[in-house]
Amino acid sequence: MNLYEYQARALLAESGIPVPRGEVARTVREARAIAERIGGLLVIKAQVHAGGRGKAGGVKLAHTADEAAAHATNILRLTIKGLPVNQVLVSSAVDIAPEYYVSILIDRTTKAPMIMASSAGGMDIEDVAATAPGKIVKVGLSADRPMTKTEAAAVAARLGFRGSAASQATDIFRKMETVFWASDASLVEVNPLVLTPTGTLWAVDAKISLDDTALFRHDALAQLRDESAEDPREVAARHADLSFVGLQGAIGCCVNGAGLAMATMDLVKYFGGEPANFLDIGGSSNPTKVVNAMRILTSDPDVRAVLINIFGGITRCDDVARGILTALDEIQIKLPIVIRLTGTREAEAKELLKQEGRGRLIWASTM
Ligand code: GDP
Ligand code: MN
Repeated sequence: MNLYEYQARALLAESGIPVPRGEVARTVREARAIAERIGGLLVIKAQVHAGGRGKAGGVKLAHTADEAAAHATNILRLTIKGLPVNQVLVSSAVDIAPEYYVSILIDRTTKAPMIMASSAGGMDIEDVAATAPGKIVKVGLSADRPMTKTEAAAVAARLGFRGSAASQATDIFRKMETVFWASDASLVEVNPLVLTPTGTLWAVDAKISLDDTALFRHDALAQLRDESAEDPREVAARHADLSFVGLQGAIGCCVNGAGLAMATMDLVKYFGGEPANFLDIGGSSNPTKVVNAMRILTSDPDVRAVLINIFGGITRCDDVARGILTALDEIQIKLPIVIRLTGTREAEAKELLKQEGRGRLIWASTM
């Protein structure tokens, strides 16, 4: 789950990281009121789950409340990387001199957290990695203990910070690590971290990605989810406790087990089809999961056929069959359904489906 910038800024601010004052607005009128309240040089920023907002016209400086309202009007009409902008952050702007990049994230190669930082901030870190990899500092972190002051100061020194800026940076890095652990994040990123001409550091843009599997430990963070900005299929799947990833193809896949789901998608692609989704109904024998899965698959207008691929180990095929029968009863399904069902209680399942499936299923005896 990704947080919006304004939410991420709030988390950073709570832990004592200097963040410019700002508030989120859903309308131009609200944006104007906030601008009047904050005053001074302002920045109006699109709140969407995408980077590169600056380049897309989603970040504008404003000198007056009128100007802020005009920018809010335009930005609230934008679509950035396919995402409609429904909210803007109206924030006090800072005088920008150099821009830095800092993040705490999981390093896939070492399978451990690391701090990644660069003096080439402001732009995408992927671009820095491609054009000037020498400008990126990476230091592994321990899951057993936080970064020491000395370790954080060494990173600050490698970015070129001196004097007071170095001690501010050291403090910010350590606080970012605190936020990373405290929120079970997979990414805490500040880009840019800005050094003003008067020598003060500010976290001007913030991105935080939370680990979905740890959200149950963070009620307050879980509340920050904005379902209106998510794929409606994925929202429905999450409510039904299904592991689902929406894709663009035409073949809806209903599979048990992540490995078999991946193999099924590969197979569909190998034979020239495009899967509409990854869907793992899990290892349990729960007919309602099948009903929910079928409901999600068949409500997607792009889906032209459903492929059910079940290998019953712990999952009982007869339970899956009952789920399918209930789904056929409860949902108007006009699509062809191809089914491969094998393993535990396979014979019972076939019998059930033969008697009550009314010839609606296309049987596959092997994968
Ligand atoms: P992103 O494009 O989605 O990463 O959005 P950012 O918040 O990082 O803003 C993009 C760029 O706009 C930054 O790199 C800055 O150059 C500029 N910018 C953002 N906030 C301010 C601000 O408060 N003051 C000034 N002068 N520039 C800003
Ligand atoms: Mn940014």
